[in-house]
Amino acid sequence: MSANTLKLILVSTPVGFLGSGKGGGVEVTLMSLIKGLLDLGHEVTVVAPEGSVLPSGCSGAQLREVAGEAQPSWQHQNASSPMLIPPDGVLPKLWKHALELGKTADAVLNFGYDWLPIWLTPRVTVELFHLVSMGDVSDVMKTVVSELSETHHFRLAFHTYRQASDYELIRDPVVVGNGFDLKNYDLQLRKNGPLGWAGRVAPEKGLEDAVEVAVALGDRLLVWGLIEDQDYAVYVEQSAPPGTIDWRGFLPTSDFQEQLGTCRAFLNTPKWNEAYGNVVVEAMACGVPVIAYDRGGPGELINSGVSGWLVEPDDVRAMILATARAEEIDRRICRSWVEESASQEGFTRRVLEWILTGISQNQSGRGN
Ligand code: UDP
Repeated sequence: MSANTLKLILVSTPVGFLGSGKGGGVEVTLMSLIKGLLDLGHEVTVVAPEGSVLPSGCSGAQLREVAGEAQPSWQHQNASSPMLIPPDGVLPKLWKHALELGKTADAVLNFGYDWLPIWLTPRVTVELFHLVSMGDVSDVMKTVVSELSETHHFRLAFHTYRQASDYELIRDPVVVGNGFDLKNYDLQLRKNGPLGWAGRVAPEKGLEDAVEVAVALGDRLLVWGLIEDQDYAVYVEQSAPPGTIDWRGFLPTSDFQEQLGTCRAFLNTPKWNEAYGNVVVEAMACGVPVIAYDRGGPGELINSGVSGWLVEPDDVRAMILATARAEEIDRRICRSWVEESASQEGFTRRVLEWILTGISQNQSGRGN
């Protein structure tokens, strides 16, 4: 093994095929890392549910598609729900495949938020690493992550410190942030566009609060994202005067960023401990100031008063006042922050450092 030529297996989320949008930010994160690793000359194989597609920039990676029933996503279950695997579930099939490929690879990286691969880690010789993509939405997950930290702490990495603080870890967490191919995002400087919001349309994302802000300011709210919960979308639509929400659907990054960049401000209203908040950084990459609840990852991504505004979680009134001050933010500063802190190159470098540290810890017999 050499840091210049790693052979890596990347295992996608089992909740949907790559390109479906069901994997939320994980899909964008994974694509970014594939591209970053390929650019550095590493050998990458992606194991993902059947139907997955890799964008043209990732064509140097091999794609292994695996058939099977999608895994139910944790964020729509109760914290105390048991771990479920459907009959013919794709999750164990992905891992059967990945473990086989892993025998001749330097490491296998897991991007899914699932109990099985984490539980497997101390029980197989393949070097497994997990980029944990959510906070502790599940007790089963919280337990298995904390148990792994006790013996194999360096096999776990997180997107932000706030996300990691949901777990009981034996040491300080490995935090790798996230990264975006900035060539895909154009800085737009116009300041008088509409308001924007993006994400999976589901209760934990708090779209109704952003709508309330738009109504109070007499603005239109552009909304992008996969409608994951149709009843919730109808409820939100009915909570505002007709025409307030301009539903844009789930768009490929090129179209998404082009429309996103026209916004005067972007609203981020999570009701959960958002692990990172890809859309926050994507908006900033386009120069759009983000007004966010100071909860979870976004609280670490925005320098309030400089690159956006952070307000008390669930305080819609404060969000209205901060949104009215969006034009005070220099759009170039938003972009610069992303270039410095969330580039694809920097993210890839941090992930490689994490993996190489983990492998050397293991080889030297220092599991954690
Ligand atoms: N997204 C997209 N097209 C859209 C709207 C959203 O590709 O029309 C992507 C967006 O780029 C982001 C992801 O959906 O990377 C949502 O990720 P985020 O981390 O914000 O939330 P998650 O869904 O992972 O909880």
